[in-house]
Amino acid sequence: QRLGHTKANPFIAPESLTRVFAVASGKGGVGKSSATANLAAAFASAGLSVGIIDADVHGFSIPGLLGLVEGPTRMDDMIIPPVVEAPTGNGHIKVISIGMFVAADQPVAWRGPMLHRALEQFLTDVHFGALDVLLLDLPPGTGDVAISMAQLLPHAEILLVSTPQHAAVDVAQRAGTLSLQTQQKVTGVIENMAAMTLPDGSTMALFGEGGGQILVDSLGKALGYPVPLLGSIPLDMALREGGDAGTPVVWSAPETKAAAVFTDIATQL
Ligand code: ADP
Repeated sequence: QRLGHTKANPFIAPESLTRVFAVASGKGGVGKSSATANLAAAFASAGLSVGIIDADVHGFSIPGLLGLVEGPTRMDDMIIPPVVEAPTGNGHIKVISIGMFVAADQPVAWRGPMLHRALEQFLTDVHFGALDVLLLDLPPGTGDVAISMAQLLPHAEILLVSTPQHAAVDVAQRAGTLSLQTQQKVTGVIENMAAMTLPDGSTMALFGEGGGQILVDSLGKALGYPVPLLGSIPLDMALREGGDAGTPVVWSAPETKAAAVFTDIATQL
C-alpha cells in the first residue's frame, strides 16, 4: 500500500549530515547482512543514531539478525520504524526492511520499478529522524536495487564484502566496478570468513587466504584510486550464533576477534 508521494528524500538534502553506506557483495552467503548488522551495532555502541534499510529483497535478514519482533507503526502519513537500543552507550538502530511489508511465507516477486518505488518510499516516508549513519543492505550482485540505490542516494559510499575465496573475489570485483557507471565511491572492502582459530589454537583457512588484498589491489587499478582493506573478519561460531539468536556478535561476544574487527572498521569509517 502506497502513501502519498509528495515528500522529499531527506538524505539528499544539501544540509544532511548523515553518512550513507551501501553494503554490497558480488554474491550471496558471504556475510553481507551479518556485516551490516554488526557495523550498525558497533556504530550504535559508539553512541550514534543508526538507520538500516534492508533492501536485500530476496533474502531480507536484518530484522532477524537484530532480534526484532515488532514491525513498523504508522503515524499520520509517516512510517515509524522499530528501534533496537544498544546495550552499552546510548546509540540505537532504526530498521526498515522489505520483509516487514510482505507476508512471511511469500516470496518477493517484484520487478524493478516496484523495487525502485519501495526504496524511494523507505527514504521519504520512514521517520528515521536525525541519523548519523544510514546503512543499506543491498541484494548481492549488480541488479535493479543497486542501480536504484545509486539513483536515489548518489552520494552513498559502497562497502564491499567478500570472502577470501577467489571465486567470490571475482564477482565482488564486478560489483565494485559498477561504481564507475554510477559514479559512486567504493570506501573499502571487508573480508569476511577469513581463517578461523580452532580450539587447539591453530588456524584453518576454510575459504583460502589473501582474497581481500587481491580484491583491493585490482579494484584500486580499475577505479583509479586506492581502496582500503578495512578489516578481515575470521570465521567464528560466536558470530553465527549471535546472528541466529538476534544479537550481533559485537554485542553478544565483544571479546571475540570478529567483534573487535567490526568495532575497528566502524572507527575507521
Ligand atoms: P549474505 O548477507 O552475504 O547472504 P549472511 O550475512 O546472511 O550473508 O551470512 C551467511 C551465513 O553465514 C549466515 O548463516 C551467517 O551467520 C554466517 N556467517 C557470516 N559470516 C560469518 C563468520 N565470519 N563466521 C561464521 N559464520 C558466518
